[in-house]
Parts: sequence; C-alpha cells; structure tokens
Amino acid sequence: MKKLVILGGGESGVGTALLGKEKGYDVFVSDKGKIKEIYKEVLINNEIEWEDENHSEEKILNADVVMKSPGIPDKVPLVKQIRDKGILVVSEIEFASKFTQASIVGITGSNGKTTTASLTHHILKQVLNVGLAGNIGDSFAKQVLEEGYDNYVLEISSFQLDDIVDFKPHIAVITNITPDHLDRYDYQFEKYIASKFRIAMNQTKADYLIYDADDEVIVEHLKKHPVQSTLLPFSLTKQIENGAYLKDDNINITINNNQIIMPTTNIKLEGKHNTKNAMAASTVSHLLKIRKQTIRESLENFQGVEHRLEHVLKINKVQYINDSKATNVNATYYALESMDAPTVWIVGGEDKGNNYEELFPFVNEKVKAIICLGADNEKLMQTFGGMVDVIVETQFMSEAVKIAYKISEAGDNVLLSPACASFDLFQNYEDRGRQFKSAVRNL
Ligand code: ADP
Repeated sequence: MKKLVILGGGESGVGTALLGKEKGYDVFVSDKGKIKEIYKEVLINNEIEWEDENHSEEKILNADVVMKSPGIPDKVPLVKQIRDKGILVVSEIEFASKFTQASIVGITGSNGKTTTASLTHHILKQVLNVGLAGNIGDSFAKQVLEEGYDNYVLEISSFQLDDIVDFKPHIAVITNITPDHLDRYDYQFEKYIASKFRIAMNQTKADYLIYDADDEVIVEHLKKHPVQSTLLPFSLTKQIENGAYLKDDNINITINNNQIIMPTTNIKLEGKHNTKNAMAASTVSHLLKIRKQTIRESLENFQGVEHRLEHVLKINKVQYINDSKATNVNATYYALESMDAPTVWIVGGEDKGNNYEELFPFVNEKVKAIICLGADNEKLMQTFGGMVDVIVETQFMSEAVKIAYKISEAGDNVLLSPACASFDLFQNYEDRGRQFKSAVRNL
C-alpha cells in the first residue's frame, strides 16, 4: 500500500484524505495546529489516522507521497526535510486531478479569482454538469470523490500551483498579476509571476490561456517566456483579433472567426475590473460553446460575491459598500475607481508593505473623508493626512461605521475597502466584512 501523508487538516487536507483512502492509499493526516472539530469527526468516521498539534517526523518522512496544504510555506524545516529525502510533494489539485477525466477550467491571478470563477460557474451551470472548487467551498478532492462532474471551474492560488507536476487545465485564466504574498516568494516578484504561469506549464496548443492583455506584467512575462497554449487575451482598451475586447459598452469575443457581441449595460457587477472578469468568464463560456443568449442572461442575473463591492444598505440616501476582500492596494484601486459619488473611505489593517501612490488621484478626486481602521494607523495617517479634510482613526468597526454615518451626506458612498489584511483586528476578511454589515444594519 502506498503511503500518503497529508500536511494540514483543513478543507483540502481532509478532502484529499477521503479521496486517498478510497483510492487505496494508506493515509496519515498531520497538522501542527489544531484540527477543527468538524474535520476531526470526518477523519474519525472514515477511520483515517491523524494527529494534531504535532508532526511525527519519522512517520512523515516514511511517506511515498506528501500532500502539502497551500497554507504551509516551503520554509518550514519539515517540508525541507521531506524534499531533501526526495519524497514527492504535491498540492491537492495535483493529487485530485489524477482521479478525474473532467474538463478543467483553472482560474488564477492576484485579484478577481473568486469573482471570475463564480461567474464562470454561474454561466456554465445553465447548460453543463459543472462543479466549482479550489479555494471556494468544498474541496476539489472531495468533489472528485463524491460528485462526478464532467467539468470543473477551479479557483487556484499560486500556492496550489507551486506543487503541481502534471496538472493541466484545458482552459486557464490569469486575471492579473500584481505584487502579493511576496513573503512566500523570497520577496521576488519574478518568482510569484512564474508561480502564476505554472497554470499553463503543461498546456499544449489544444489548450487555451485567457489573460488580461492590458496587464503589462503578464504581457512582458509572455514575451520572455512563451507558452504552448493557444492565447486568448482580453482588453478594455484595444481591439483583439482572437480573444475579447470592449467597444461602446459591448463585449466582443472572437474565437476561430466566430464572433459574439454582448452588451454590458445591464450587468450588475460594477467597475472596470468586473468588466474584465465578465470578459474572461464569457470567453471561457464561448469556448465551451454556450449560446450567446445564455451567457448574456447569466451575466445580467449574477448577483456578485459577498464582501466584493457588495452593496449593503442605503441609509439616508447614503450607499454603504462592503469590499472587505480588498486585502491589497490593487483591489482597492478598482474599488475607488468604480466610485461614482463622494466617498467616505474606511481603510487599514495589517499592512503588507503597501505602496499607496497609485490611489492618490482617486483619493484627491473622490474621497471626502478617511477613516483608518487598523491596530497601527500611523502610516495611513501620514500618507493621506494632507490629502483630505477629515481623517480619523479607530480600532473598532462599530465606531468606524458610526463616524462614517456622521460625516456622510445624502448622495455619498461609505466604502470599506481596506487594502490591507484583516488579521490585526479581525479573524479574517469575512469576519471584518460581517462586522461592517452588522454595524451598518445597527445604525
Ligand atoms: P481573489 O479570489 O483573487 O482574491 P476576488 O474576486 O475575491 O479575488 O476579489 C478580491 C478583491 O479584488 C475584491 O475587493 C474585488 O472587488 C477586487 N477585484 C475583483 N476582480 C478584480 C480584478 N479583475 N482586478 C482587480 N481587482 C479585482
């Protein structure tokens, strides 16, 4: 029996354990932290061996293959030891994809993965038997075991891509690449870019790579490191012969001389970034031969994803918007860009070495007041202090929302778009977004 060791007993780890057991592996799950009760129960009920708050090195180093959860950095000494011993280390998508014949759409990028994957799934599911997995919902491994879909839309992080060997999506999407998670890539942007491009590394001419042709990082990388895949770029600014572009509020998509044109005017998702996401999702759908009418209707009735420019409530004609998932500057850039009214902006959290300069024009133009919401607001206060009339700081969401309520006037927006991670004051970005929404509802 082949020995499969799984490092990390979270969603992807437990899913892999179930799949591995079913496929005849001798499975052992090991987690240095505490495994959640719901997952422990699954492991126990399925008679899968596990440990938490410990790594039994001897047992782990005896594995034939190790599935490492995406959250565990390569720097961890145990991971180094495993690799030094020549044991194969794979990610969950690599492991699980071996056990399905389904056609895979893989979506990666720095921002827009969840939105684009959810929207793509929303369109495809009108016609196809398709699952949505990756960083969303039930793990891919679990779905491969239990669901038997013919198609999958996978949201894929760079960490999952770092440990693929043969994984090959038939259709790959790179939404954009901006600096993020550099602590895991020796602070070298090039390494992070290369990691994202691994999504195309096993593709051939018969497979497709859809990407943002307005993103210079992507375009430059492609020039230097060509891929085998058939390229289908999308652009907001230039006409694209093979791929998608926007003209007069219409999305034009051409694949093998077959063109479809769809209006964007009735799409609920706001902002240029979401037009890009819609172009990417529609291009996938056109490739998979979904009818234009179906794509168009699905684009129009897609409600968006929680915590992404989510409209919460209108109070006294002030619109409250929850963009808690904006954990980096680029995401906030698009949020501010899409603001069509004077905005009270709630920003801050755990700074990842942010450079806020690209936000300055929007702040000057649209932001009437700034509320800094972080454990340490010093950098924000200094950066934006001279730029707006009102800038205040707090460590409490309820207070931030109350201040926003006082400052705002009819016709304004109140936008939570932190540009920072949430871990200084909140459990995660979902917690931050929920606290915002509940504070707004309590006004
Ligand atoms: P991811 O899964 O890659 O984190 P999400 O769809 O969850 O992406 O969106 C994360 C944040 O980025 C949100 O604040 C959202 O409004 C913003 N965003 C969504 N799509 C894009 C895009 N194409 N470019 C830049 N920012 C985006």
